Amino acid sequence: MTTAAGHTNQELIERARRVTAAEKYDIGTRFPAIYRRAEGSWMTDVEGNRSLDVTAASGALLLGNCHPLVSAAITDYIQDYGTVFASTLSLPRIELAERLCERFPAGEKVVFGKSGSEATTMAIRLARAATGRELILTSGFHGWHDWHQSYLQIGYDAGSGVACFGYNKTAFKRLVAEFADEIAGVFVTPEPAWFDAAYYRELSEFCAQHGVLFMLDEVITSMRYGPNGVNGTGEVPADIITMSKGMANGHSLSAVLGKAEVIDAYDDAGIGGTYTREVPPMAAALAVQDFLADGTEHERCQRMGKLLMDGMRDILASVGIPAWVGGPAMMFDVVVPSEALSWDIYRAAFDHGAYFEDSGTQMVTAAFGEAEVDHALTAFEKGARKVAATTDFEVSEIGFDRKAQFAAEAFGGALEDDDRVLKSIEETVRQIAERTPGISPRPLPACG
Ligand SMILES: *Cc1c(COP(=O)(O)O)cnc(C)c1O
Repeated sequence: MTTAAGHTNQELIERARRVTAAEKYDIGTRFPAIYRRAEGSWMTDVEGNRSLDVTAASGALLLGNCHPLVSAAITDYIQDYGTVFASTLSLPRIELAERLCERFPAGEKVVFGKSGSEATTMAIRLARAATGRELILTSGFHGWHDWHQSYLQIGYDAGSGVACFGYNKTAFKRLVAEFADEIAGVFVTPEPAWFDAAYYRELSEFCAQHGVLFMLDEVITSMRYGPNGVNGTGEVPADIITMSKGMANGHSLSAVLGKAEVIDAYDDAGIGGTYTREVPPMAAALAVQDFLADGTEHERCQRMGKLLMDGMRDILASVGIPAWVGGPAMMFDVVVPSEALSWDIYRAAFDHGAYFEDSGTQMVTAAFGEAEVDHALTAFEKGARKVAATTDFEVSEIGFDRKAQFAAEAFGGALEDDDRVLKSIEETVRQIAERTPGISPRPLPACG
């Protein structure tokens, strides 16, 4: 098919392959479309095919594309005020910081960055500088920066001074009890489909008892786990939280909120960044805050997410694909017998006009209404039916083993204290005890 641009999706993917695309990240793990525009949650590719985005652009969107409030906020700002100034401070930055501090209990002060990875990197630099300690304990995904490379295994990485405990409470308690005086912070990404608020609260309390900072990576949950993230439930106190995805509805912005004495370590931590001052995304974030202010939009969004989640669960049951579906309505997980099967179902659904997240975490935006949910479910049902018709399942239901495998592959979760886990805990304790710390908690200040 010839397109307005004179190229098919496939031709453009080949062009991209020659000059820019990464084989796995950009091509192998995505469905074959080059989008030309999107409005709400509907995307149109270069061949004119329409597809519904059920990934929220990896969570970057909260209100959908071309949301009038956000578009107006950002274009008005650029036209009437500008983009960046000599000063790093601006009225939107100050107002946004105030608004975020009102929303999140952890927030006494806020500093800004551009991406989730930048925020998490800032967070550990702040924790190290504020405490003068170097060791970091972590669980879950925090981005792609150098300090964070081995999050899928329990273990200690000497190069970064970071130890991963894989959400395993035995590992967590052992490491905190053993090394409390050396730990700058414990940094955990909530996986709300897998651990409830009581779990994070227990970690938080244990850290407080041992004089260790507790940090939540809410880059994704801050806008999707209820209206105010995990920290905003009031059930899970934290010394630092990070946020980014969705906060400026697709525009590049991230934030680190925390206790004043932690955020005040900014200079000692040698943090900076030319684009931390970029104002229009902050104007967009204020528009998002306005949109969410009275809570009704979040409620509606959760209702749509729940309809989708329940619908997908029912469809999988009715076509006979063993599945476990659960989690918060705006970021739920769908676990089927294997990753390959998951890909096949969503690939088939894509042919019917719905772009799901193939790994299984589905996310709606405020641009979803019942028509969008219906469309997503119709496409999903066609995909699931096609796959069910050609697949023999070795299991009849998703048991603990498959869930544990999913957790291990998706976020490094070690759900069980089996021999392998207990051995890796001992090994990690030994490596930390014998380490020669190579990371300075307070690096020399950066230029600029
Ligand atoms: C996406 C994500 C990151 C990384 O954010 P980027 O903007 O992709 O750099 C970090 N932590 C969590 C919890 C995330 O979901």
